[in-house]
Parts: sequence; C-alpha cells; structure tokens
Amino acid sequence: MAHILPPGIDNATFQNILNELSEIVGEANVSRDGLSGSLEGPHGQHTYGDAYVLQPANGRDPSAAVRPRLVSEVQDIVRLANKYKFPLWTVSRGKNLGYGGTAPIVRGSVVLDLHRMNKIIEVNEEYAYAIVEPGVSFFDLYNYVQEKRLNLWPSVPAIGWGSVLGNTLERGFGYTPNGEHSQQQCGMEVVLPNGEIVRAGMGAMEGSKTFALFKGGFGPSIDGLFYQSNLGIVTQLGLHLTPAPEHYMTCEVSVSREEDLPFLVSTISDLMRRNIIQNSPSISNVLRQCFFSRDPKVLEIISPHFGNTCIPETVLAKAQKQMGCGFWKAQFALYGTVEIVRASWSAIERNFSRLSGTVLWKKEATNRAGDFLTTMDVGPEEIPHTGIPTLEPLKLLEYRGPGGGHTCFSPILPPSGRELYAWYLTAKQRTIDAGFDFFADFHVYARYVIAIELVVFAPAEGQRCGDLYRNLLEDAVQQGYSEYRTHIDYMDAIASHFDFNKGALRKYVQVLKDTFDPNGVISPGKSGIWNSSVSDRA
Ligand code: ADP
Repeated sequence: MAHILPPGIDNATFQNILNELSEIVGEANVSRDGLSGSLEGPHGQHTYGDAYVLQPANGRDPSAAVRPRLVSEVQDIVRLANKYKFPLWTVSRGKNLGYGGTAPIVRGSVVLDLHRMNKIIEVNEEYAYAIVEPGVSFFDLYNYVQEKRLNLWPSVPAIGWGSVLGNTLERGFGYTPNGEHSQQQCGMEVVLPNGEIVRAGMGAMEGSKTFALFKGGFGPSIDGLFYQSNLGIVTQLGLHLTPAPEHYMTCEVSVSREEDLPFLVSTISDLMRRNIIQNSPSISNVLRQCFFSRDPKVLEIISPHFGNTCIPETVLAKAQKQMGCGFWKAQFALYGTVEIVRASWSAIERNFSRLSGTVLWKKEATNRAGDFLTTMDVGPEEIPHTGIPTLEPLKLLEYRGPGGGHTCFSPILPPSGRELYAWYLTAKQRTIDAGFDFFADFHVYARYVIAIELVVFAPAEGQRCGDLYRNLLEDAVQQGYSEYRTHIDYMDAIASHFDFNKGALRKYVQVLKDTFDPNGVISPGKSGIWNSSVSDRA
C-alpha cells in the first residue's frame, strides 16, 4: 500500500522530514506511517486516526506522528513544519473520542502527539490549583493528589483517560463544582506557529507568582485564542480545583413523565443561578437509566431489541416500569459543611415539591468536624461527582455490536427547559427514524444547557450515523441553535453558523491565522479555521 503523504510533499522530501523529526525527538518517537505509537485506543489499538469513523469516504488519515517530550522540541518541530510547509495536527493524549480522536482534518497531516509531555508542574493545595503539561491525564492528576494526600478534588469528565489540558481547550467539562474546565483555566503557555513561546495573563510577567491565580493579567486576554483553535500549541495550563469538603451529599431528582423535563430543568437552573446547586446536574432518560440499572431483568427486557434499529418506546416503558423510576433523572452533589449541605438540600426539596410525582434521593458522607473528606470516604459512584476517574462508560459502546463507537450531538440551549423539550422532541424523532436510540446526557448550567445526545453505532453504521448527525444539525440550526463542540467532519458546518455581520468573527480569526501561521502548518481546518490561501478545503 502506498504511503499517505502530506499534501504537496513528495516521498523523498517526506523521508527527509521524518529523518529530521527523528533528529529532534529520537527515532523511537516518530511513527513513520501513523499506524503505531499512539496511546491505546478504545479497541486496544495504537494506530493514529479516528476510532469511530462516521464518513469513511473522507479518508482523514495522518501520514506520520511525532511525540516530543520538551517544549524546545515542539519549537523545533514547528520550525521544521514551516521549512517544508507540511501540516501538523496537535493532540495532547488523543482521546477526543466521538469527535475524531487523533484524526486530522487534512489527510496526510503529521500528528503532533504531546502525550509524553506529562509533567505535573505544580499542585497547590492551599490555593487549590494545578499547572499541567498536555500529556497529564485525569487519572494522573487524581493519583498525584491521592499519593500526596492533598485535600483537593480535581474534576474529571465521564471518561478519565483524556488530557486535562486537551479537554479544557475543547471546552470539555467534568463533575465537581469546578467542572466547567474552560471557566476554571487560569494560566497558559503557548508555542506560536513561528516557534516563539508566549505566556498569557499574569504568566507574561517574568517570574510571576500569580500565573494560576489571576486570569486577567494586564491588557487583552489572549487565552481564548487558543481554545478549539489552530493558532498555537499549548504546552502548560493552570486549572482551579475543588477543595475537599467536610461534608458531601450525592443527590438525585426524578420526574415521572417525559413532559416534566421543562420543570426539572428550569428548577435546576434557577437553583444553580442562586448557587444552591454547585455542580452541573446531568440528566438521563429511561434508556440511560436502563444501562446503569443493577436489575438484570431490565437488560432482559431491552436486549432482544439491540441491533441495527431502535429499541421501541413501548419496550422502554416496560423497562421503566420494571425499574420503578421516573422518565428523567437528574444527578448532582452538594459540597461544603454539614450545616450548608443540609440547608441546601432542604431548599432543593422545597423547590421540587411543587410537582407531584417528583422523587428525591440523597446519600451523605461526612468526616469529623474540621477534617476534610477523601474521595475514598465516598467511594466510586455512577457519576464521578467527587472526581474519581473511571473508564466504565466505554463498556456501553458495544451494545449495538462489537467494535462499536459513538458520537455526540451537542447543541447549546437556553436553560428554561422549554427550548430543550421542543428540541428534544424533534431530535428524538429524527433519531428513531434513522434507526438509532436516543441516549440523553443533558448537562444543566446556570445560564445554558449542553444537550448532549450520545449516538452509539456499530462499525457498519458509521455512514448512517453521520447522515443522522447532519439532519440533527439542520434541525437545530432551524431552531436557532448550534453546537459547542463537534466531530472533525462537521467543523466547517458549525463554523458557518457563526455568521453575524457577514461572518465578521471568522474573518477576524482568519487574519490572525494568516498573520501568525502564514504557511498554515498548525491543524489546518480545526474549528473551520483555514488560511485565506486555501481553496481546497478537506
Ligand atoms: P483528550 O485526550 O483530552 O481527549 P486530545 O488530545 O484528543 O484531548 O485533544 C482534543 C483536541 O484539543 C485536539 O484535537 C486539538 O484540537 C486540541 N488540542 C489538544 N491539545 C492541544 C494543545 N496542546 N494545544 C492546542 N490544541 C490542543
């Protein structure tokens, strides 16, 4: 099979590039065909690319990969990319599953895999922050905190093997009160496309003691330029963490009927605006509750319907009856002192008692007054509200067939619940019509909802799932919404929705791209950002 080459590069030049990369990082840290060397993927593979391909015809495969260990190596690699004008595709740990993994948008890009840059530079217990390199995973940070017995509960997303830095840059989120990672970021170091190093905020001051304490700095904040972007390579990131509380309460609220969703969401978001609920509640539908049920009869009811079509609603209703649960369940937690947590719970009970059929449940964990809880005092939970990392949800992805994958459709909606319900009804019907199951993973915040629809598909269903995605997107846009994050196949489409004043924002970002990365060497096409010279968009 002929090698995949970077665009515009012949094989002889490509070999020179690989040799020079090898001089920078050592031969062991160059993958000359992208078929090995990545961190283990969900199916045990070490190849670079998308583990869950949606549209095989796009052929988004890299030509090679390079794994630096030092910032100076990243600088040298970027300079080499400019010398030969070949595209890099930056990943930190490459676990961006459901959104493209390590696959580049431009076929033949060289993956710049930063997972070997895995230093935890600092964890400050007193001020509750961490400064990490790109390769540090949520497991790494959690284990560090446990080993050093620090009174901190770092946030984790649903699956803990991803990069803290990569997840934050993608505006990912986790489950502690500091779970909105992009809002908790404070301090950033970046290698620019010309190889220069810049620090944002207070870090711009030589020897700064407030790198991860005050985000503002003096003058414009540039941190945002490097979110979901291709304007630089982030090599250090500061993040605020949740201090371990004295008292903790896991909470659940269920409402019985499908049409109770607006009540559930509006009540939660109001309680969040008032800081009574501190972390983002996640909302599951019946299907999701089935997968987490410990009752074997539930699986007996739904599993005969696993295959290449959807589980009928009548079957889900039967499963709901078996579980004795509501249609929707919200899960969150309370953190603080015993007095505060119990007072918050009373307010929560009072607010939810307005709708009959609402069921509340809680479980507390406490320590002697003055002592802080460890996550092990609580133990593993279905949702990692304390920050214990897990890989459990990966198991779910096989239910339609071995080697299965997922993608997430993730629109941002207002937090009243009314808009969410209207959108949900359309999206659910689209999903059923396409022969897939609607799996709800809605995340409520004070002023928005991230309405994640997780679509699980068997390997042969990728294209059909991709078609569903496009329909979901068109429906959402018609209703006035777009996504906060997306798979590489849809980045141009999402970027096109941000069209105020003839796309003034995109034009501005393109000027930055042309100015700082005139050769377009860093992640071309990321988030729909291309150099103006590019006419053939992948
Ligand atoms: P994770 O392992 O946390 O899922 P990835 O390493 O897959 O994260 O990165 C997700 C995305 O974030 C990448 O596709 C890339 O666009 C962006 N990204 C990751 N690391 C960096 C970085 N160090 N600098 C700039 N962008 C990055």
